[in-house]
Amino acid sequence: MDAMIRYPKKINESMTKTTIKRLLREGLLTKDEQDIRKISDFINFAKDYLGITDDVKVELAFERTPDITTTAYYDLSGLVKVYVKDRAIVDIQKSICHELVHHLQNIEGRLNNPIEDGADGSPIENEANAKAGEILRKWGKMHPEVYI
Ligand SMILES: [Zn+2]
Repeated sequence: MDAMIRYPKKINESMTKTTIKRLLREGLLTKDEQDIRKISDFINFAKDYLGITDDVKVELAFERTPDITTTAYYDLSGLVKVYVKDRAIVDIQKSICHELVHHLQNIEGRLNNPIEDGADGSPIENEANAKAGEILRKWGKMHPEVYI
């Protein structure tokens, strides 16, 4: 089934399997300290950007649990949970920002109807997507290595 895998351009046939595996994993979040630090730096940056000063919890889930039916969720009690397994760091960052915006909306008393607010294209959802994009662009400018 090798034909179904789209390898990055720099991979050629003479490379060892280990090298290929490593290259394919680049950009994916792992449990190693450096990656986790990258994410926690990013969380602090996003919180600062949004002006969130409380201790909202951000949990990274490396395994599926029954509560995770989408890639991420925000619980009104002040918990952001993001599924991270086999996802690119930049996608995880986008999820984190999106849910942090919901936390801000909650603090400001603007989340009133979970069904309407969470619907695609609702003002609440659009704001979360737009702000997430803003934060990622800002972070990307400070860390150009993110977008190779
Ligand atoms: Zn949302």
